[in-house]
Amino acid sequence: MTVPLTIVGSGMAGLGLVRQLRALKDDRPITVITADSGDDYSKPLLSTGFAKGLPPECLAMQSALGVAERLNVALRSHTRVDAIDLEARTLRIGAERLPWSELVLATGASPAMPFCVPPALGDRVFQVNDLDDYRAFHGALEALNHPARVVIVGFGLVGCEFANDLAAGGHRVALVAPEAAPLPRLLPEPLGRALGEAFGEAGMSLHTRCSVAGFSRQGADVGVALDDGSQLDADLVLVATGLRPRTALAEAAGLPAGPAGIHVDRRLNAAPGVHALGDVACVDGVNAMYVQPLQASAKALARTLTGTPTEVGFGAWPVMVKTPLLPVVALPPAVAPARWRLDGEGKDWVALAEGEDERLIGFALTGRCVRRKVELARAAPALLG
Ligand SMILES: Cc1cc2nc3c(=O)[nH]c(=O)nc-3n(C[C@H](O)[C@H](O)[C@H](O)COP(=O)(O)OP(=O)(O)OC[C@H]3O[C@@H](n4cnc5c(N)ncnc54)[C@H](O)[C@@H]3O)c2cc1C
Repeated sequence: MTVPLTIVGSGMAGLGLVRQLRALKDDRPITVITADSGDDYSKPLLSTGFAKGLPPECLAMQSALGVAERLNVALRSHTRVDAIDLEARTLRIGAERLPWSELVLATGASPAMPFCVPPALGDRVFQVNDLDDYRAFHGALEALNHPARVVIVGFGLVGCEFANDLAAGGHRVALVAPEAAPLPRLLPEPLGRALGEAFGEAGMSLHTRCSVAGFSRQGADVGVALDDGSQLDADLVLVATGLRPRTALAEAAGLPAGPAGIHVDRRLNAAPGVHALGDVACVDGVNAMYVQPLQASAKALARTLTGTPTEVGFGAWPVMVKTPLLPVVALPPAVAPARWRLDGEGKDWVALAEGEDERLIGFALTGRCVRRKVELARAAPALLG
């Protein structure tokens, strides 16, 4: 029996690679192993479903069974890989040893949880990073039977998108984070403040420069104690404090990996016969946790695996933040800029990040200025040229 190409992870990276291989008419046996349901869904839609009132089943484009049939793969859902043996070329899943011919790690990134959540609040404090999480959070909101008071912890892309989406869905949102303004890693502060104002005008409360000191049960509510001494009462809490590449399997196997991900070259190679792509991969020093880079990686790796060695490149692909209350587009500079040049007023801002030589190395746009994204992306350097 032919030993299969084995992919760990059924997210957009893992299934994207299978699609690319099948599009190249590659019909080798493929096994996909995933810790989650294995349903095919677009993760960016998770933070747009509440405004549209979409139940989880509407976000799944295809069930795991449908994926397996359509792409002709052996898909093992709700199955966690425990270890990789590089020498024996096997995966360990409990007591089972599963051989692979080539191994692809597409294990994504997991949400950081910097707080200790009392077990009694396990059904009130959530993180949403996959469709299974969305099912649980959506179920808890539905069970309340009324617009919920939701405290969102974190000013990053995920926290801000959920804030906008939940508010648009009629819920009462409070946002808490230690930074001075939303999207601190994507936007210079005046632009972040413009987004904060738009959120405020939509009825959200923003608690800037505040950290969560602890959670407690207060009757039917969750008490969220802040380090400025105040307390917020909520029905539910959503913690969105950043994502970390899931490198534990790779690190334990002795593959090159660190906080930025599994280190791979531009052919997505980590070791002989072992590849990585998607949120878990740090490609030639760059880990861009967005869809376009993983799609480019899937295309390049499929070509390499089918006999045409191909290096991946990432263009100047800006991030489009899904906050309709104030449109935001950003291409964060890869290195700290020498200066930001800001131009704008009210909600409409252009911020240009320049290097020492005054060249454009990144940008951020809000409001009506987002229409400049194509022009500026053309002028900016590629993420991985
Ligand atoms: C709310 C939200 C909104 C977003 N919006 C956008 C957007 O608008 N535009 C954009 O470009 N990007 C967006 N992103 C980022 C984008 O969705 C991710 O970059 C992308 O989905 C990552 O895909 P992945 O396949 O690498 O990882 P994941 O989707 O995390 O998949 C990882 C897979 O690995 C499996 N796995 C992990 N460990 C194991 C193990 N030990 N054994 C078995 N299986 C394992 C998991 O079960 C899962 O199947 C968003 C992200 C979030 C969370």
